[in-house]
Amino acid sequence: MTNTLYPIFYGTRLVTFDVLRNTFEPRMHPEAARRGFNFILHQGGLFGIGSGFRAPGVQPVNRPGFAQPGRSFHEGQDFPSGRFYTAWDMVVVNPGFKHRAPSWSQVPRQGQQLALDYGWHMNIDEESWHAQPTELDGWGSWFLNGRRDLVANYPMRIFSPRPQPPQPPVPPIQPPTNGVIVEFTSRNLSEGAVGSDVKFFQRHLNDIAGQGLLLDGYFGPTTTRAIRNWQGFFGLTVDGGLGPKTQRSIIEVALQAS
Ligand SMILES: [Zn+2]
Repeated sequence: MTNTLYPIFYGTRLVTFDVLRNTFEPRMHPEAARRGFNFILHQGGLFGIGSGFRAPGVQPVNRPGFAQPGRSFHEGQDFPSGRFYTAWDMVVVNPGFKHRAPSWSQVPRQGQQLALDYGWHMNIDEESWHAQPTELDGWGSWFLNGRRDLVANYPMRIFSPRPQPPQPPVPPIQPPTNGVIVEFTSRNLSEGAVGSDVKFFQRHLNDIAGQGLLLDGYFGPTTTRAIRNWQGFFGLTVDGGLGPKTQRSIIEVALQAS
């Protein structure tokens, strides 16, 4: 794992295994983390994580492909051993472009040997990026089966790491460019605001946090939810507004991702 780098978020940023792990492990079920990170580690830098924990209620309601609020493994769920999240949306490096979702041919699909090797699978139709422990087929069946805990110490087959694919050079972290400074404004933004500065943050929330916002420069409820999601993930005060601290955190991550 020494020099191998892993994709993180939805831009082009690459990080060490430790950074990836430290970013996504808090609040995750320890057994899910054990399996998922072992899977990632032993795939030689092919996979990384686009998003993990998602605060409840931030996803669109009644949209195909999104779980109902409260019924996602991206949210903390009550297992006998505690309240944890257990699912990731994974990404792979897309040289020269933003990281992309893995294809079905790359992932441990439900029932396949690779899934059984790690107790970690992708099983949702049309979501080849969504990964979770093999016991968790869906929120409904988990709930109806009594919210069983994950099998501790799943007997993973630990492989030697794959031969390392050539790694793209690590992009240096650039100081802010004129473009960023011109676009950046420090006025406090909250729901109802309109402007190019709102659009600037919408674009970055899409690029680095996969929020899927319409780039309309209008600070509406969906933008508020995306910001609450961001704030929750990074441990900021969750108020749904774009004050100086939240603006700075988005820009800092965006600069590292660009
Ligand atoms: Zn997902």
